[in-house]
Amino acid sequence: MADMVFKYSTINSGKTINILQIADSYEKNNFQVVLIKSIKDTKGKNKVLSSNNMERKVDIVLREDESLLRDRNYKIYYTAKVILVDEVELLNQTQVKELWMIAHLINIPVICYGLRSNFKGEIFSEAVSQIFALADSVEEIGSSSLCACGKKAIFNARKVNDKYKIDGPTIVIDDGKKKNVEYVPLCSDCYLKYVKINSLEAEKLAKLVDKIK
Ligand SMILES: [Zn+2]
Repeated sequence: MADMVFKYSTINSGKTINILQIADSYEKNNFQVVLIKSIKDTKGKNKVLSSNNMERKVDIVLREDESLLRDRNYKIYYTAKVILVDEVELLNQTQVKELWMIAHLINIPVICYGLRSNFKGEIFSEAVSQIFALADSVEEIGSSSLCACGKKAIFNARKVNDKYKIDGPTIVIDDGKKKNVEYVPLCSDCYLKYVKINSLEAEKLAKLVDKIK
């Protein structure tokens, strides 16, 4: 039977370019691709758009509590050769379990792309916990983005009106309309320094570091 793979990275790391290239290589060989994203991902509406201007129509835009196994979706699996999921962190936990079942019971490879952590530096969602638990393999996308200091980025920090924020709703899509919200890939050192240092916990930590020094 096929496997479910989770490929994660930070923002701006070429995840979408990667997903569209895989879709393209399957389709060039006349293999049917099913591209899925959550309705919560409002960027590009019913398309997936990459930073290098590639785009592809999404085959299933999943509603928040929609089952992947319901009739309108199920028929598509008879001929599919691969299922690609963009921004898997926006799905719900049950939808991730269903993807895993599709891989192992219907024998269609499932490749999910997404973020590991949210802007607070925590596991992004229940969907991400679930996929870490169930995925047959978990891979960090090699082209992960770099922090401005040159180190490998680990965190997806949120800036609102040009200031780093540690509170607020988990999901605010940077779809080009909310011009005051942007996401910045940061390494651990810079995340601690610029983002966490604003929280009480990190203030204590900073004092401790000062003492040690
Ligand atoms: Zn850095």
